[in-house]
Amino acid sequence: MILKRIKLDIPMVGETNCYIIQDEETKETMVIDPGGEVDKISEMLDALHANVKYIVLTHCHGDHISGVKELREKYGGKILIHIEEEPGLEDPAINLSDYIGVGNISLEADSRLNDNDLIHIGDIEFKIIHTPGHTKGGICLYQDDKKILFSGDTIFKGSWGRTDLPTGNFANIIKSITDKIMVLPEDTIIYPGHRKTNHDKRRRTNIFRTTTKRILNEENYFKTI
Ligand SMILES: [Zn+2]
Repeated sequence: MILKRIKLDIPMVGETNCYIIQDEETKETMVIDPGGEVDKISEMLDALHANVKYIVLTHCHGDHISGVKELREKYGGKILIHIEEEPGLEDPAINLSDYIGVGNISLEADSRLNDNDLIHIGDIEFKIIHTPGHTKGGICLYQDDKKILFSGDTIFKGSWGRTDLPTGNFANIIKSITDKIMVLPEDTIIYPGHRKTNHDKRRRTNIFRTTTKRILNEENYFKTI
């Protein structure tokens, strides 16, 4: 499996991560969250002789979707998003594309994802984990053999996604993280939608420990007031 992280510079948002995953044998490729700077993404896809099978969106926000149209026209591939996130993909007021200055984006998905769906790139299997909270149809993708998780804006290194945007919900993101992410093996490597991964072996488990600690503190805090 080939995995590349492309750091995209998105107006008003800053650094956003796009990931390219390829099965070396078949060249089947999945692009996760092409948020813009399609030239950068294309350069890597061309170098990999990629056959783009899926463009998977962890959620609908403009900084994760603004390169989708151009990328799709160039390479094909099916646009996949969680079924509850589809209205946001179509509506610039929900995906905030105009607000962050990437234009009024309204896109249609080719297929809708549900919790526990499995998608394949060659022989590599990814499980869809529905993680509402940052948005109501947000997902993570988990690859069991390599123990890697693409977490979108649900969880970052030591923190989690904001919940004050349309369809966001604080209680839901806490529930998603504690019930669906914290139950994964402790040495899972997390590739988030922004900022760095917890790839450093010595620190690999920190994202679980520090984030759990912070979440529990915050949850207690909210419970006591
Ligand atoms: Zn977001």
